[in-house]
Amino acid sequence: TNGEHVAALVIGTGYGGSVTALRLARAGVDVHLVEMGMAWDTPGPDGNVFANTTRPDHRSFWLRTRTKQPLSNFLGFPLDKDVPRHTGILDAEEFGGITVYQGRGVGGGSLVNGGMAVTPRRERFGAVLPSVNADEMYGTYYPRANAGLGVTEVDTRWWESASCYQYARVGRKHAERSGFPFVFVPNVYDWEYMKQELAGLVPKSALAGEVLYGNNHGKKSLQKTYLAQAKATGRVTVSPLHRVTSVAPAASGYTVVVEQLDTAGAVTATKSVTADRVFFAAGSVGTSKLLTRLKATGALPRLNDEIGRGWGDNGNVMCGRANHMWDATGKLQSAMPTAGIDNWDAGGAFAEVAPLPTGIETYASFYLSITKNPHRARFTWNASAGRVELDWQTAWKQPSVDAAKTIFDKINQKEGTIYRTDLFGAYKIWGDHLTYHPLGGAVLDRATDNYGRLHGYTGLYVMDGSLIPGNTSVNPFVTITALAERNIERIIADDLRRP
Ligand code: FAD
Repeated sequence: TNGEHVAALVIGTGYGGSVTALRLARAGVDVHLVEMGMAWDTPGPDGNVFANTTRPDHRSFWLRTRTKQPLSNFLGFPLDKDVPRHTGILDAEEFGGITVYQGRGVGGGSLVNGGMAVTPRRERFGAVLPSVNADEMYGTYYPRANAGLGVTEVDTRWWESASCYQYARVGRKHAERSGFPFVFVPNVYDWEYMKQELAGLVPKSALAGEVLYGNNHGKKSLQKTYLAQAKATGRVTVSPLHRVTSVAPAASGYTVVVEQLDTAGAVTATKSVTADRVFFAAGSVGTSKLLTRLKATGALPRLNDEIGRGWGDNGNVMCGRANHMWDATGKLQSAMPTAGIDNWDAGGAFAEVAPLPTGIETYASFYLSITKNPHRARFTWNASAGRVELDWQTAWKQPSVDAAKTIFDKINQKEGTIYRTDLFGAYKIWGDHLTYHPLGGAVLDRATDNYGRLHGYTGLYVMDGSLIPGNTSVNPFVTITALAERNIERIIADDLRRP
């Protein structure tokens, strides 16, 4: 409520925000979480909280009147359609050279993502976060994050015969025939639930193609893990449909301005609260946009010049391949990926074998590659337009395409197959217009100290993916969670326990 004072205010309820809330609350600190998206705890008219991926509706997109699906076309037909403007779950946020997909709601990206919970290979960690002690991360914080998130491995005996992973077995066959290492990756999906889905015993979720607009069952989003535990402490309150617009020093602590939204996105109230400490966990884009604007417009002028810098797309690029008739990928495809092709050291690419859950046999193999892309973009404040811009260039995806080609050109040659040209618009092979993995913008040990304390101010912290300088070599949320676990432990010990 307006005029309230809180000990700790956390902006955003994704991985960074959820870890922060749980650990602060367990240390005896009262925490208020502010989330611009909806709570996602109430069923819609169809009885489900979340819309199906194949039937997007008002719940699917954040304040859009037309869907913007990552796969825009299929067999020559455009897939996008009109939807009512609503505070839906997936934001396709458009900057000049790239569309950045993000989750909106209590749980952040955990609501919409593929659940792939990958710890980077240890020998690659030095390139991911050079200032962080790897022994501590791999000895303590990665295990803590994996436990907190409920990460488990698929039962490979079941996987070998499950019809819903035929597409992944075809992916393995093609990878191995071309000599690439094929690796299983853990997930946060409840595998026992998926087995029951396949056996027809429970309502289908992953096997009904649910992922991009939320999973109604089976996936352990943050709502079921960190946030449930945080709420159980009795010290955490959450305000959904509230968006932070300003943070500025007050006589004691900080004044935080928050706009309340209705489900059409209109501002219904503007509130001002004070907080002793403010934790920015609005995601790489959300935190970077806020900090860039607050520095430029004079609310937080002492933030340093690293704010807005070091942003990368984790090298995301997608493609599909057309298989021969003997390599059918299956009508039923689990929406939760289980495996990847690791050509990072030789070619700079780690490719997820991704589902294409259309409900029909497509003879297509589909992949999301994470690549070693050297380009880093910067957020800047455009005063005349009144918005933050990102200077990512479309052409900067070329190193990612080249890296992905080290895998798929070889597989195509070996199998005598070709790329699909119907998935991203006419005759377009590469899905190079987007990222699911925004990282950076308030980089650790540059914009902040080595634990996320923002330079220039006491009591302001960054806790999310904006700390990571642009690439993690694998899917990012386990690293974001582990880094938040590491940083908040130090902040509690040094800033909150000592007078
Ligand atoms: P987020 O999870 O983005 O949370 C930030 C939260 O802050 C959001 O809920 C947002 O609404 C809120 N917010 C923003 N601005 C404000 C504001 N001003 N006021 C109040 N609230 C605000 N990663 C993996 O590791 N494995 C995967 O399989 C995977 N698949 C993905 C699939 C998709 C479709 C997408 C979009 C992402 C995927 N990711 C995956 C990426 C992963 O979800 C993100 O890296 C992760 O969610 C980032 O965590 P975060 O804590 O930095 O921020």
